[in-house]
Amino acid sequence: MRSLPYFCRGQVVRGFGRGSKELGIPTANFPESVVDNLPADISTGIYYGWARVDNGDIHKMVMSIGWNPYYKNTKKSMETHVIHKFKEDFYGQTLSVAMVGYIRPERGFESLDELIAAIHSDIEEANMKLDLPEHLKLKKNNFFKTAVLTTPNQILNGHRL
Ligand code: ADP
Ligand code: MG
Repeated sequence: MRSLPYFCRGQVVRGFGRGSKELGIPTANFPESVVDNLPADISTGIYYGWARVDNGDIHKMVMSIGWNPYYKNTKKSMETHVIHKFKEDFYGQTLSVAMVGYIRPERGFESLDELIAAIHSDIEEANMKLDLPEHLKLKKNNFFKTAVLTTPNQILNGHRL
């Protein structure tokens, strides 16, 4: 994918309570404005990369880009699971992500257990791949150096910053 690595930033909004947190895999949703700005060659599916909440530490992440059933699949959504245990929710805070690589396309599952197993294997793959030097170096990208202003609705979309 020509657009990778892809950097973007936006305020975490409420999702549609599909119970991700109950499964132990909370996913932070980006606002529509961020999703709408995705380049055309970023396909739906599962990505891995780096994530940061406000000016906090940079953590590994997995992200799902897919069609949102809430909007009868007419609207794409971007949901990031940060591979880190946070003490509190971070709704309204600024999430910065570097999408680094692609894991797999979207797919359906026969059962909830099968879905959870797939996500755990995605997390494992992200964990491994992100330890490669070429991916580790993206943590030092200027994108993560600039202090995030906590102005509401701050949005940034771009790549190769
Ligand atoms: P929603 O439907 O509102 O997205 P989720 O059950 O998916 O609800 O939970 C997502 C929220 O959980 C995020 O918006 C964030 O505030 C919080 N959260 C806590 N830990 C994490 C994490 N490790 N990764 C992503 N979000 C997290
Ligand atoms: Mg969610």
